Amino acid sequence: MTAKLTAFVIALAVAGSAEVRGAESFEDSGRAAHRMLTNLCDDFGGRLTGSPANREAMECLAGQLRDLGLHPVTDAFPMPGWERGADEVTLVQPVARVLRIATLGYTQPCGPFEADLVDVGNGLAARYPANARGKVALLDPSAYLTSRELSRIAVQKGVRGVLYVDRVGGGELLARTGSFVGEPLPLPMVAITQEEGRRLQRLLARNRPARVRIQIRSHCLPVQTANLKVVLPGRSKELIIVGAHFDSWDLGQGALDDGLGVAQLFALARALRGRALERTVELVWFNGEEQGMWGSRYEGEHLGDSPVVAMLNLDMVGVPIGVNALGDASLVEPLERWNASRGAHKLRLGVQNIDWFGSDHVPYQVAGVRAVSLNGPIPQDSVRYYHDFADTIDKLPESIVVQSAPIIGDLVLFLANDSKLAPWRRPASDTVALFTVVGLQRRMQGVGYWPFKPVVPEK
Ligand SMILES: [Zn+2]
Repeated sequence: MTAKLTAFVIALAVAGSAEVRGAESFEDSGRAAHRMLTNLCDDFGGRLTGSPANREAMECLAGQLRDLGLHPVTDAFPMPGWERGADEVTLVQPVARVLRIATLGYTQPCGPFEADLVDVGNGLAARYPANARGKVALLDPSAYLTSRELSRIAVQKGVRGVLYVDRVGGGELLARTGSFVGEPLPLPMVAITQEEGRRLQRLLARNRPARVRIQIRSHCLPVQTANLKVVLPGRSKELIIVGAHFDSWDLGQGALDDGLGVAQLFALARALRGRALERTVELVWFNGEEQGMWGSRYEGEHLGDSPVVAMLNLDMVGVPIGVNALGDASLVEPLERWNASRGAHKLRLGVQNIDWFGSDHVPYQVAGVRAVSLNGPIPQDSVRYYHDFADTIDKLPESIVVQSAPIIGDLVLFLANDSKLAPWRRPASDTVALFTVVGLQRRMQGVGYWPFKPVVPEK
């Protein structure tokens, strides 16, 4: 080894150890995290759970965490998976035209078959015309029932498939799950663009024939996947869990939903390593969220009696302007204390206390754990593309990660170090109330995810 090379190696080693020992600023971590996510998006694309892209991207992330001197572990679990195939919906009348489509998750193979379209408005049973049987339902974006409820009505009415007109214009397609419980859909459900949908609605309104040919090759299959975890040990075993979902839909790159959270967790991992913490902080990258929160459900069901103080969920959080106690009043006071401690940097909207459904905090809440989310709006120019082909890294400015990372980091440090907080599990009856007082129960039952006994009669 030459002297020059030796000096170079020593310089590298010193730089490396300084980095591991010292506390990197959250801003610098945010910049590095945005770079990591950019490469992850471009090298692997969308991270649909069960796909090779998802698996390889997770291995890549784990490798980068190891390079930081951390020890990521995987928590493997099985779930009902779904693989998108080369599905086709073609307008055959009045003109031949291949439609732009995105099949809903858990749709099963069928066809090819041809059928006339029928307008079913928002998909309520009363909106189906008498002659709907044997046709394909054209569903308006104003539909408010869950896909599962809509598919049940469609089956009762004897239609052969559902074309779901997208709620966002501009040729966009909203990929989504057809069933939170992973049941194969009883008939094909396919999102179509708002523009093509409106055209079909206009044709039907004039009693013009509109006929489609449908072939679905997508299919359900059991998959084995995993969550990725990093534990940052504190002085006590009391736990703060911070999670974001690693998986995304497959059409775009999953940069906003939830690559943003993937990057924010990575920034936390970078900036928190080497810092003294009172409580242990566990960072979790979940899989299977988009298809039904499978990864967080697995974690929630396997928490046992671990002494969790709180769980923070980062799902599409821009630069925070508020912090949300998610319906658990016992968190309001500490979160207010945290916000007050920020002095001139207080979050504008302060502490909110509104529960919401549909992301990885829910299974923790179900397990009695207190959960927190952050209110960080993402600019409309970016957020409109979530679940679409255009959810790509160019929609996520570095500034969102760089500016959000210090606020998230500050909250995590507060939760990890505040002396007044303690582990807490809500009694089951209070947890039921958490969801019923704001009427989330109906939606949860609609998607098939209501783990409690029906203590409140269904409306
Ligand atoms: Zn998400």
